[in-house]
Amino acid sequence: MAQEKQNTSGGCLCGAIRYTAAGEPKGSGYCHCQTCRHHTGAPVVAFVVFSAEQVSWLTGHRRRYESSRGKFRAFCNNCGTSLTFEDDELIEFHISTLDSPNNYLPNEHTHYVDKISWFELADSLPRYHGSIE
Ligand SMILES: [Zn+2]
Ligand SMILES: [Zn+2]
Repeated sequence: MAQEKQNTSGGCLCGAIRYTAAGEPKGSGYCHCQTCRHHTGAPVVAFVVFSAEQVSWLTGHRRRYESSRGKFRAFCNNCGTSLTFEDDELIEFHISTLDSPNNYLPNEHTHYVDKISWFELADSLPRYHGSIE
């Protein structure tokens, strides 16, 4: 996986919310679950994971929807950009919200069993039926 030596940074469409993450990510991948699809409006999401203590929220206040017990989907209350899947320990940023998305390569497919049938994959990454955690 390509690594960025400086802090990771990103934010939402309107610019109200900005974040940084320090150091190396804990992992990355694609998620094909229906909850991610509903949260983002996209057929699949690509995410990069950091521990919560690596992350600094610089501006704005993200709204959090509790999609399952103790698990949240964060978004911008102004422009609607979906930003994270998170709990108290881990924050999974959608790679599409990073300033430099080319620096992070997804390493596997999670919830592959839920993949939309017409969405074809051309990679040879590992494919897991559930989450990797
Ligand atoms: Zn916004
Ligand atoms: Zn998902």
